[in-house]
Amino acid sequence: MDAIEILKQLKDKGVRFTPQRQAILEFLLETVSHPTADEIYHHVKAKFPGVSLGTIYNTLKMLKEHGHILELSYGDMSSRFDGNPQNHYHIVCSKCGKVADLHRPLLDINQEVREKSGFIIMGHRLEFYGICSECQNDEPLN
Ligand code: ZN
Ligand code: MN
Repeated sequence: MDAIEILKQLKDKGVRFTPQRQAILEFLLETVSHPTADEIYHHVKAKFPGVSLGTIYNTLKMLKEHGHILELSYGDMSSRFDGNPQNHYHIVCSKCGKVADLHRPLLDINQEVREKSGFIIMGHRLEFYGICSECQNDEPLN
C-alpha cells in the first residue's frame, strides 16, 4: 500500500494527519533500513525542524495500531520500525546492528505449533543473526 492509500484509509477512520506525520510514514515506506524512532526523528527533523520526538512516538504507535507498520523490538535495545506490515523474516548483523529483510516464503508451521501447544497462534517471528558483508570486509573474523 502506498502513502496516499494509507492516508485515505486513516482519514476515513478519523485519524488526523499533519505534514510531519506524513513524512514519518513516507520515510518508513521508502527506506529498507528498519530505522529506530531516533533515526526517524533525525530524518524528519531535516525537513521539519519543529518536529518533536513525541510526535514520532505517537505517530509510530498509531501506525502500528492500525496495522500499517511493524515494530521489531529487541529487549532493552531500541525498537526498529518497518513500513512493510506483512510478516517477513529478518537478518541482523551482530557487529553493526544492521537489520535487513530476508526474502523467502513464510514457514508453514503455525498449525503444527497450535496442535503442539494448544495456543491459538497469532503469528511467529523469525530472525537470523550473523555478520553482514560490509562488516566481514572491515576486519578478519577471529
Ligand atoms: Zn554489519
Ligand atoms: Mn523488514
